[in-house]
Amino acid sequence: MKKTPKSDKKVAVLLKYVLGIEATAHTFGVGVASIDGSDIVDFSHQYIPEKGGIHPREASEHHSKVAPEILKKAIDYIKERGGDLVAIGFSQGPGLGPCLRVGATVARAIASYLDIPLFGIHHGVAHIEIGKKLTGAKDPLVVLVSGGHTMIVALEKGYYRVFGETLDISIGNLIDMFMRAAGYPSPAGALCEKLARESSDFVELPYIVKGTDLSFSGILTQAIKLLRKGVPVHTLCRSIQEVAFAMLTEVTERALVHTRKRELLIVGGVAANKRLREMLENICKEHNVTFYWSKKWNGDNGAMIAWTTVLAYKYGKPLRIEESLVKPLWRIDRVFIPWGSDQTS
Ligand code: AMP
Ligand code: MG
Repeated sequence: MKKTPKSDKKVAVLLKYVLGIEATAHTFGVGVASIDGSDIVDFSHQYIPEKGGIHPREASEHHSKVAPEILKKAIDYIKERGGDLVAIGFSQGPGLGPCLRVGATVARAIASYLDIPLFGIHHGVAHIEIGKKLTGAKDPLVVLVSGGHTMIVALEKGYYRVFGETLDISIGNLIDMFMRAAGYPSPAGALCEKLARESSDFVELPYIVKGTDLSFSGILTQAIKLLRKGVPVHTLCRSIQEVAFAMLTEVTERALVHTRKRELLIVGGVAANKRLREMLENICKEHNVTFYWSKKWNGDNGAMIAWTTVLAYKYGKPLRIEESLVKPLWRIDRVFIPWGSDQTS
C-alpha cells in the first residue's frame, strides 16, 4: 500500500456551530452561531395577524408551517461551511404557550435525533446577550423594551437584577394597542413613531411612576378616550411617546445613579425608536455614561437565541428532555447567568 507522505496529511478543522430556535410570540426564527462567535446568522419569519393582536393558536400554526423551510435553510448554512452542529437551544420562555411549544418540540426532536445537548434559553436574556455581543458593551445597565418586556436590569452576582419594570402592560403593547384602536394593524411601533414626528401638539396623559416601577395602562385608556373625542391620532402618538418614554427615562436615570454602571444598553423591538434613544442618550451625557444600541436584531430573532446558546454551551448545563417544558411566565431574575462574572470582571 502506498504511504501518504507526512506533509500531505491535513487535519480538517471543523467549525463548531449551534442552532437557536425563537418562538415566543410573532416570530419563528432559527439562528446559527459558531462557537467562536465569528459567524452568527438569522433565518426568521414573522406572523402578521390579519386584524387585531397576536392570536396564540394562529401564531403557533404559522410557526409549525414555516418551521421545516426555515430549519432547512439554517442546517444548509452549516453544511455549506462544512460545520459541525454541536448543540441546540430554544426560547423556553417567557411567551405564548402554544408558540413556545412549537419551538420546544422542534428543538427536542433535533437534540434527541442527533444526540446533541439541549439548552433552554430565556428570551429576555437573549435580547440582552446579542445586544452586548453586537455593541461590545461589557457590564451595562440594560433597558429591555419589547412586545413582552419593559424593564431595567443589570447583572449582579450571577443574575439580571430588576431595577424597575412595568406593573401592567409593556411599552410595545401600549403602542400597538393604541394604534389598533386607531385602526392600524400590529405591530405599529414604527408607524406610531412616524406619525408622532408629524405633530408638534401635546395632550396631557397620566404619568405614573411608582417607586422605580411604571404603569402604562392609564395612558392607554386616556389616549383611546381622547381619540374617540376627536383628538388627532398624530397628537396622541406624540403625546404617548413623550409621556411613556419620559417615565422610562426617569426610572433609568435613577437606576444609573443607584448602580453606578458606566454603560447603558437598550435592546428589544422598541429600541428602534429614535425619540426614546434620544432621551436616554441625554441622561447618559449628563452622567458621563456610554450609550450602546445596535440597529441589528432588536426585534425577536433566532440569532439572539443561537448566540445565547453558545454562552450556555460554554458555561452552562444542558437540559434533560424531561426538564424542557416551556415556561410562559419565566422571570428574568430567576435565571442564573453562569457566564455573568466572566463578562463583568
Ligand atoms: P419584540 O417583541 O422585541 O419583537 O418587539 C416588538 C415591539 O416593538 C412591538 O410592540 C413593536 O410595535 C415595537 N416597535 C418596533 N419598532 C418600533 C418603533 N420604531 N417605535 C416604537 N416601538 C417599536
Ligand atoms: Mg422580544
